[in-house]
Amino acid sequence: MYLFKRESSLKKYLAFQRSFGNTIGFAPTMGALHQGHLALIEQSKKESDCTVCSIFVNPTQFNKSDDLALYPRTPAKDLALLEKVGCDVLFFPDVTDIYPESGIETIPVELGNLADVMEGAHRPGHFEGVVQVVQRLLQIVTPDQLYMGEKDFQQLTIIRSMVEQLALDTAVVGVPIIREPDGLAMSSRNVRLNAEERQIAPKIYAVLQQAKSMISRYNLKEIQTFAMEQLTKVGFKPEYFEIVDRSSLQPLQSVEGSKGVVACTAVWLGNVRLIDNLVFI
Ligand code: AMP
Repeated sequence: MYLFKRESSLKKYLAFQRSFGNTIGFAPTMGALHQGHLALIEQSKKESDCTVCSIFVNPTQFNKSDDLALYPRTPAKDLALLEKVGCDVLFFPDVTDIYPESGIETIPVELGNLADVMEGAHRPGHFEGVVQVVQRLLQIVTPDQLYMGEKDFQQLTIIRSMVEQLALDTAVVGVPIIREPDGLAMSSRNVRLNAEERQIAPKIYAVLQQAKSMISRYNLKEIQTFAMEQLTKVGFKPEYFEIVDRSSLQPLQSVEGSKGVVACTAVWLGNVRLIDNLVFI
């Protein structure tokens, strides 16, 4: 695997790859890699000639400074995992490479209602930071395929909208959520859970599944109320549990006539914030 710290050297290498007609697949991450990240790399390897992974903990998408400071960083382990799955290129820039003092040129993107709800409502400025960094990374890598996880369902929808608005020649590929055997969605933040919290954490998925099983017998408001109560009962502090249209991300009153329905939730467990989602229809 090639490791690049600088934009200019990565660009040179990718131009060399393109000169042979090779396609580029790209998976941006914040490191502390797990099987969820590796699934993006594995899918890219199947569909692209050259797979690039980036590791960059983007300060502009953290709305809480302690969350940024406590974000797990395991560079040596990440490198070994990427080597093991056969990733071709790791881009591992510093903050000053991504945000040089000379400034960066990004095109404003209209997020509209997509960013008003759920993560956008609870983490002010988060998606502005995500859009900024993904746009900057796409300018550098200009991949044929961009691989992102359905774990961050709202993020994936917003990036799809950004790529469409900017008319980029990049296909956005959503990769299904990878879970632990007990159902907990894999996340870099899971390592911050203590033993007791780790026992409780899989119940997010259990509640999502329970909610899904209620869909033909209860209205969505009743299901939402049940899920919020249930999450609280098993030990979480739920921030939201929303049942939304999978394209517009707006909360639904009913599933009637809807082409896709997904339930998304964010909960606190101690001082760790976890998100998960489940496609209902
Ligand atoms: P992060 O490092 O948390 O920014 O995640 C980098 C990418 O990996 C994002 O596109 C995530 O959606 C994706 N990802 C993280 N966890 C999972 C998972 N459990 N299953 C699938 N994709 C994931």
